[in-house]
Amino acid sequence: MCPEQRTGGAGCPTSKLPGAIYLQLTQRERVPEQGRVLETTFPSGPRDKERRSLRGRGWAPPLLGPRSADAPSDPRHPAGLGWLPGGPAAARQANMDSPEVTFTLAYIVFSVCFVFTPNEFHSAGLTVQNLLSGWLGIEDVAFVQYHLRRTTVTMLVHSLLPLGYYLGMCFAASEKQLYYFNQAPEGWKLFLLLSVSFPTITCTIAYYWSRKRWDCHPLARTLALHALPQSGWRAVASSINTEFRRIDKFATGAPGARVIVTDTWVMKVTTYHIHVAQQQDIHLTVTDSRQHELSPDSNLPVQFLTIRVASINPLVKAFDIRLNSTEYGELREKLHAPIRNAANVVIHQSLGDLFLETFTSLVEINPPYSIPSNQELEPCIGCMQISANIKLVKNCQESNEGECQQCYCRPMWCLTCMGKWFASRQDQQHPETWLSSQVPCPTCRAKFCILDVCIIH
Ligand SMILES: [Zn+2]
Ligand SMILES: [Zn+2]
Ligand SMILES: [Zn+2]
Repeated sequence: MCPEQRTGGAGCPTSKLPGAIYLQLTQRERVPEQGRVLETTFPSGPRDKERRSLRGRGWAPPLLGPRSADAPSDPRHPAGLGWLPGGPAAARQANMDSPEVTFTLAYIVFSVCFVFTPNEFHSAGLTVQNLLSGWLGIEDVAFVQYHLRRTTVTMLVHSLLPLGYYLGMCFAASEKQLYYFNQAPEGWKLFLLLSVSFPTITCTIAYYWSRKRWDCHPLARTLALHALPQSGWRAVASSINTEFRRIDKFATGAPGARVIVTDTWVMKVTTYHIHVAQQQDIHLTVTDSRQHELSPDSNLPVQFLTIRVASINPLVKAFDIRLNSTEYGELREKLHAPIRNAANVVIHQSLGDLFLETFTSLVEINPPYSIPSNQELEPCIGCMQISANIKLVKNCQESNEGECQQCYCRPMWCLTCMGKWFASRQDQQHPETWLSSQVPCPTCRAKFCILDVCIIH
């Protein structure tokens, strides 16, 4: 953090950051309390620019120069062959052309993509979930039942991949006579035995899991850990199903490691396993953060946080969830318990979260507003979660001066919703102007500024 930012200097190089928006408020002296270091996700500095400009000039890493000078020039020299067009590359070329190698490479790529499902495979619908969607049912209708079936069938389908390779090789390398088991080479016999035994084993496991209406499935056992003594895992499952259907759940992450937080449950859905923990039993700790220079979706650097979810129930195993730091605020809102920051990770919040925090801290030092004792506060019409606790009172200037107007609406909004409304009316490209601007009251359109937002006591 720039030291000048804290003292209110004007020469701070990060004056674009919302931390510096405090400076815009000149009508009243306010020294913000900076409990922890906050940063926004703005694009990187000069290093990137330098790299870009070098690339623009046709710059290339100076790797080839010295190495080609060191390389032996004698074509008969074994180390020298690689540098010549007719060397081992030509021999490799002959191999590459055989359908066997082509098929092997293609099958490996396909298998890896099928198991780890990158976005392209998802959009093409080449996933177990999509191919067998008819049998799996709909996740929103019965989350637990869907994942009981999905994990089982995923394991089964993945275990068939080696057998698929063998069958493909029967055609790709027909000279090996792989379709006659007796004539196949020894190595291939062994491979076939292994590739038949995988699905046999997984079929046995799948049968075992599905017995007694899925009582033996690992997910059912996990849920049974949370069940009350007189009820079984099915009661827990129906609670999860109901909460998963709500639209206010928090869900994020890649398909192979989704994080779902509902009112009572924290879950992590992976390809073969589902971790479940009850919100009231858990401690969450930020253990690690990783910065990626560029994300595929935007040109901004992204930060991924690893959060350890540990339950006080000794039978529930701890697990890690990963999420983008810009979703951290939303996650915190959904959790009842605080998240500990053990590794003192600097969390790069989204601009909206950062603004909301600043907005709240500024509004808290405005003069409070007391409502008449006979007036009752209704729930906030923005979120319906808590009762309205904001009244707009023109405090910034005398009543007939300035741009702000007096709002005569009764209290209808909560602080968070008012902050979100305030942020939504701003120029998203210029966060430095946010705190000093006026926005219309959501109900009567009378203009107000941050100094006019009062908390009701
Ligand atoms: Zn609200
Ligand atoms: Zn109003
Ligand atoms: Zn005002």
